[in-house]
Amino acid sequence: MEELRIPGPTPLPSEVLQALSRQMINHRGPEFGQILNRVTANLKQLFQTKGDVFLLTGSGTGGLETAIVNTLSPGDKVLSVSVGAFGDRFATIAEQFGAEVILLRFEWGKAADIDAVRQALQAEPKIKAVLVTHNETSTGVTNDLASISLVVKEFDKLLLVDAISSLGSINLPVDDWHLDVAVTGSQKGWMAPPGLAMVSLSPEAWQANAKAKMPRFYWDFAKAKSYLEIEQTPWTPAITTVFALSASLEMMLKEGLPNIIARHARVAKATRDGIKSLGLSLFAEEGYASNTVTAVAASDGLDTKKMLRILRQEHQIVLAGGQQRLDGKIFRIGHLGWVTEDDIKPVISALKVVLPQAGFRSAS
Ligand SMILES: *Cc1c(COP(=O)(O)O)cnc(C)c1O
Repeated sequence: MEELRIPGPTPLPSEVLQALSRQMINHRGPEFGQILNRVTANLKQLFQTKGDVFLLTGSGTGGLETAIVNTLSPGDKVLSVSVGAFGDRFATIAEQFGAEVILLRFEWGKAADIDAVRQALQAEPKIKAVLVTHNETSTGVTNDLASISLVVKEFDKLLLVDAISSLGSINLPVDDWHLDVAVTGSQKGWMAPPGLAMVSLSPEAWQANAKAKMPRFYWDFAKAKSYLEIEQTPWTPAITTVFALSASLEMMLKEGLPNIIARHARVAKATRDGIKSLGLSLFAEEGYASNTVTAVAASDGLDTKKMLRILRQEHQIVLAGGQQRLDGKIFRIGHLGWVTEDDIKPVISALKVVLPQAGFRSAS
């Protein structure tokens, strides 16, 4: 079997695999209602929020679209803070729905600069919302969201956050950090298959929702809320993924959020140390390297495509390449969800063998 070490989808524990083999039930019946209630309550704990949390059937990107169309109107000015491919995607969604996007981009591999965010907000008082990626999966960078939030709230703007690859793995106290909408996806740190986006809403997000005029039908928070009150979802949900998520959330609560966060930090450190021991360097700016995905710079003759192929064919280890302009320039190791330090050791050992086969000439 292949060792899947990409930043989503992530491997599933046996408890979750078992949940996946369940027979279908009526999604408008009492049993599903109970599951939906419990899953929602468990998610609120892990989001560290007392606000509303919805399960939406779709991938993470659908969740991002939901955040935009439910809080904004065409013509609204938004500040989009982007440090990579997913930050750019969030901005593009807003633009497609008619927002006036002010793009604040940072060099890929770097984190967002807080002073630049403040200056952008000072320069344009009409900005309504700020879009930001907490953990930029394409570059392996985690933004200092606590500090960004302080600035955004100093200016009293809505804060919409792509937390797809951080929530449930990296500390993200949604209420303490005043996130108005936070979005994640079942196939990242949640040890569940793809199929669900999970989103939280603050009271301010609801106020914005009451006035938001962007077109929406399937992705509608008001419908999600009215159906959750009768223990249902507006549309047929990905029932099997809900079963799986229900099982994985029980595991997560048993482990405890602080332990999960600490485990991700340890696994990430082991990964970074292992990479450096091989003579490779991290792509992420010092101090901002992600605890869920490590991006490694291709240096000293390394052919990443060849490396990824040999790893897969001869070592049954699947890592990720770079996206868009980082294609061939970096490779990425996903370490989120069901992962321990012991899962990283074979990756580093295999890399040690494969790197010279893929052209890497170590400096030492
Ligand atoms: C995976 C990911 C997405 C995209 O999610 P999909 O489920 O593929 O739609 C967006 N943003 C970030 C930060 C991600 O890690």
